[in-house]
Amino acid sequence: MDLSFTEEQKAFRAEVRRFLDEKLPKRLSDKGRLGQRLTKQDYEEWHAILNEKGWLAGNWPKEHGGAGWNAVERHIFEEETTAAHAPRIVPFGLAMLGPVLQKFGSKEQQDYWLPRILNGDDWWCQGYSEPGAGSDLASVKTTAERDGDHYVVNGQKTWTTLGQYANMIFCLVRTSKEGKPQEGISFLLVDMNDPGVTVRPIVLLDGEPEVNEVFFDNVRVPVENLVGEENKGWTYAKYLLTHERTNIAGVGFANAGLANLKRIARLEQSGGRPLIEDPLFAAKIAEVEISLMAMATTNLRVVSAAAAGQAPGAESSMLKVKGTVIRQEINALTKQAVGPWAMPFVSEALEAGSNEGPVGPSYAMSATPHYLNNRKLSIYGGSNEVQKTIIAKAILEL
Ligand SMILES: Cc1cc2nc3c(=O)[nH]c(=O)nc-3n(C[C@H](O)[C@H](O)[C@H](O)COP(=O)(O)OP(=O)(O)OC[C@H]3O[C@@H](n4cnc5c(N)ncnc54)[C@H](O)[C@@H]3O)c2cc1C
Repeated sequence: MDLSFTEEQKAFRAEVRRFLDEKLPKRLSDKGRLGQRLTKQDYEEWHAILNEKGWLAGNWPKEHGGAGWNAVERHIFEEETTAAHAPRIVPFGLAMLGPVLQKFGSKEQQDYWLPRILNGDDWWCQGYSEPGAGSDLASVKTTAERDGDHYVVNGQKTWTTLGQYANMIFCLVRTSKEGKPQEGISFLLVDMNDPGVTVRPIVLLDGEPEVNEVFFDNVRVPVENLVGEENKGWTYAKYLLTHERTNIAGVGFANAGLANLKRIARLEQSGGRPLIEDPLFAAKIAEVEISLMAMATTNLRVVSAAAAGQAPGAESSMLKVKGTVIRQEINALTKQAVGPWAMPFVSEALEAGSNEGPVGPSYAMSATPHYLNNRKLSIYGGSNEVQKTIIAKAILEL
């Protein structure tokens, strides 16, 4: 398999770089570089800039307003935007719901919701997980009972990322208790401003309320908000997860993290010389860099096969495990590199423009919060333990 980029792909990379030079606001890339918090407005600003260029929905076909990129082009875009410290594209509407509506939604749903996703009229969040339904997603208990031309929804979702910003949530709900658990699930679009919806923040290890609990108490949802057929939601849910897991390797993020680690290790001192020259620390960096290079090559193989029309198999589980472990290792080394500066945590310093400066150099202030926040990587999107079982069954045939 030839993994080198074609002339066309190289030209595309150059075009993405030019675009980022011209259009990525310095205010946003500075925040990314320093690991400062992004606000809802920051994400919306970046989405609008990409949308104007027609690059917001790289994975959508052109007929729906997307860029229609293949997997290699999406990979190049991802590499360049992460290297430039651009905000990530919030995935819920664009990478998750959009493809589901395009494949299973009615024409009315497509015409109404898809342009709204592109224009940023709605902020979507993902209502899959529940307190008793995470890895075992098919055991969702939130119910939706038909009452005339409405469903009445009762129950609870949890770990809802950025639900505090959202006005819409796509939910897996139980519409039947007959048969196998997977057979009684439906896919419903719920307006979070409707009476009976309560959002409660969950504060994570880094002190950030990034995720939420969402409660539904007799929420009336119009039947036209059902996607596809009643009780067929499991099929749509699985289709969505295949989109959630694209770019799962996070090569761009790992590259950016590694570059940051090396920069810090050049600035920090150990025994009177730069930390990067300490043989023990240099060996640790080399080890993680070798793992990253090997994983990036596997990722290119998968991306290249996907561009040729092949569906990724258990390789995406391998990439999930390796990609997240590598990013967590880079976080751990970055925390080690800043030494005692990893201890004081001034939460306000992570807000751009705050009067509270960090204790220690500015490059150190996000080391601990990132280390703590990225514990999530090996849990969400299918936990690493579950991925290992998939690998054991599909590749090792155990
Ligand atoms: C930061 C963060 C953001 C999230 N955002 C969202 C979101 O926006 N929307 C949403 O719907 N969900 C979201 N999730 C939920 C996420 O998908 C679940 O946390 C994940 O599916 C794991 O489920 P659980 O937390 O219930 O853990 P459990 O499934 O209870 O697992 C607990 C432990 O047991 C292990 N385990 C479970 N089953 C098996 C098995 N069969 N074999 C081996 N080990 C197993 C797991 O690996 C884990 O270590 C988010 C989670 C986090 C941490």
